[in-house]
Amino acid sequence: MLFIVLFVLLINSSVNAEESVYDERMALFKKTEALTQIPWYYFAAIDNYERNIKKNADDEKVVSIDVPPELWFGLGNSSMIHDERLIMFFNGKGKDGNGDGKADPENPEDILQTIGNYILEYGQTKDDIKIALWNYYNRDLSVQTIMNTAKVFQTFQDINLTDRDFPVSISHNYSYRSTWGDRRGFGGLRIHEGTDIFAGYGTPVKSTTYGVIEMMGWNLYGGWRIGIRDIYNIYHYYGHMNGYDDDIKVGQVVKPGDVLGSVGSTGYGPPGTSGKFPPHLHYGMYKDNGTSEWSFDPYPYLKKWERIAKQKD
Ligand SMILES: [Zn+2]
Repeated sequence: MLFIVLFVLLINSSVNAEESVYDERMALFKKTEALTQIPWYYFAAIDNYERNIKKNADDEKVVSIDVPPELWFGLGNSSMIHDERLIMFFNGKGKDGNGDGKADPENPEDILQTIGNYILEYGQTKDDIKIALWNYYNRDLSVQTIMNTAKVFQTFQDINLTDRDFPVSISHNYSYRSTWGDRRGFGGLRIHEGTDIFAGYGTPVKSTTYGVIEMMGWNLYGGWRIGIRDIYNIYHYYGHMNGYDDDIKVGQVVKPGDVLGSVGSTGYGPPGTSGKFPPHLHYGMYKDNGTSEWSFDPYPYLKKWERIAKQKD
């Protein structure tokens, strides 16, 4: 009996801890919105992006944005004293957000105020924010990922989005095994960057995650394909589709279970080529760490999402 009570207590406290870090983050993002008039979801998206490019991110850390020291303290300010006036003298961007008179690059409120002020130098419109982000990261993919994530957070008015789904309808027949890394002959020797899920023509294909449709159209290998950028800096690639659902378009926000189109056998030739292999969905996943993007094995994730889908059924 005591064990059960302890167990329940343990589970409750870990659930609460998880909720509280999201609540704490949200409160800080909204506070910074009030101070800067920049919508909270941009701060949430920048923070999320930086947490996801880190190798060993601390999920309990409230804000994960690392402002480079030379930007925070100013060029030539080797003293790194947290005094706001001294930082300003060296043209540093570091700001005091929590009102303790110090601009501390480790303090969540100071970090968000600094980012907010940095953006305000460019303006408050969506385009201004985009330009500010470009000047901060100097990388199109970083800007795109942050803007997409902001759009998802804005749409769902939430930053704790953990639901997932399997990419083909589990009420249809399908089969798959681990095929990532297998050799493929077409178009020269390539490594298979995904998992093939075999299913009949017309089987519904779904979004597995929260994200934004980044890419659509014909691809020599992939046929009719869709690419979704999720809120974890992961690009989900769907290949060989028969066609797209009517409402699906580039820039659209999707959630787990949204139907994107159906299974087909398109690809391996000019637009419209079909039937060169049995119908299947090619599912690929690519992770971006802020400097480069690489393919990794989707199989373990597919297994997990399949279990989630079966629980919903
Ligand atoms: Zn494949």
